[in-house]
Amino acid sequence: MPALSHRITTLNGDGSDGWDVFYRARAMVEAGQDVIELTIGEHDIGTDPSILKAMYQSAMGGHTGYAMVPGVNALRDEVAARVQAQSGVPTRRENVLITPGGQAGLFAAHMAVCEPGDVALYIDPYYATYPGLVRSAGAVPRTVATRSSNGFLPERDALEAACDGAASLLINTPNNPTGAVYPRDTLQTIADVVTAHDMWLISDEVYDTQIWDGAHVSPRALPGMVERTLVIGSMSKSHAMTGSRIGWIIGPESAIEALVDLATNTTYGVPGYIQDAALFGLQAGAELESEVAAPFLRRRAIAETVLATQHVVRMIPAQGAMYVMLDVRDTGLSGEAFANALLDAERIAVMPGESFGASAAGHIRVAMTVSDDRFEAALRTLCGFAAGLATAA
Ligand code: PMP
Repeated sequence: MPALSHRITTLNGDGSDGWDVFYRARAMVEAGQDVIELTIGEHDIGTDPSILKAMYQSAMGGHTGYAMVPGVNALRDEVAARVQAQSGVPTRRENVLITPGGQAGLFAAHMAVCEPGDVALYIDPYYATYPGLVRSAGAVPRTVATRSSNGFLPERDALEAACDGAASLLINTPNNPTGAVYPRDTLQTIADVVTAHDMWLISDEVYDTQIWDGAHVSPRALPGMVERTLVIGSMSKSHAMTGSRIGWIIGPESAIEALVDLATNTTYGVPGYIQDAALFGLQAGAELESEVAAPFLRRRAIAETVLATQHVVRMIPAQGAMYVMLDVRDTGLSGEAFANALLDAERIAVMPGESFGASAAGHIRVAMTVSDDRFEAALRTLCGFAAGLATAA
């Protein structure tokens, strides 16, 4: 066959994409083994039946044709009102593009602000798709390192050092994988740096309803930032609608107009019945969102209790999202070696920190996505396993 494009064959960069443990665990499950999977960010509940009913009624009511490419007006208005209420920034329908999930929004945002070959920055540790989505958009990925000892928050010096030739900076708060919620002063530092370098800020806020300590601050609300910030939102995490593929981009009107052109020529919008279901979900209000988020807050408390009983594994304080990061360096193993050994010995699957970047080396990410009992038992086993390694080391 003719050659595939360089762009697509180099999408994952070189070497492993860090998902080996995940695929190995899946193969073990398929072979009938009882593996506790604490790998990907998928809720242990499905989409609420009331949302599914709205989806069904919309489809049966005929909303199955091409929908408006920017999104149906009612949903754009609802998202605008929600963003305005949450951030205090005046937001209108014209500032909103509905996308097939946050992932598509992240890709489109980079397409909109990066010329081919421009550097696109993001913070390490990062959500695993960031390097690939930057390359998909024809930009060049560059990471900004953070330190575990500083809660994986980005620092001014590291940001400044990375900016040369960069068109954009992508941040994520609440953060996957670290659970960090960026405080206002960190966001102000970020705003100062991107403004000084005349860069775009792309703010991935898909976990904004999962805050355990403090409050979610959108950097779009900081002085002067509304004209250089694109916010990525999604119903995947807030409403357990991961499979429905529905999210949005918020930005300046002219940026959204350009992004509508991109959508017209790529996705051609999002199914109308999915949009109607999303509208129903948003209108259902905060109670449903709290219900979806509650298990993770409960399980974070379980993790804190279990981890407090030992001194080998250190928990990075998690203020939001559905994961906890554990520092396993005292076992003498890398995150990847630890995750592989834990899977083999105890049938517990976690993600190696290294899958999320060099800054997370020696850590593992544990998704809080199994029942409380199973989660607690898995953590106890994990800590016992780590203690055994530390003694042997
Ligand atoms: N950003 C982050 C940080 C994520 O963790 C995810 C999904 N795990 C996404 C974006 C994409 O979510 P979706 O496309 O389902 O909205």
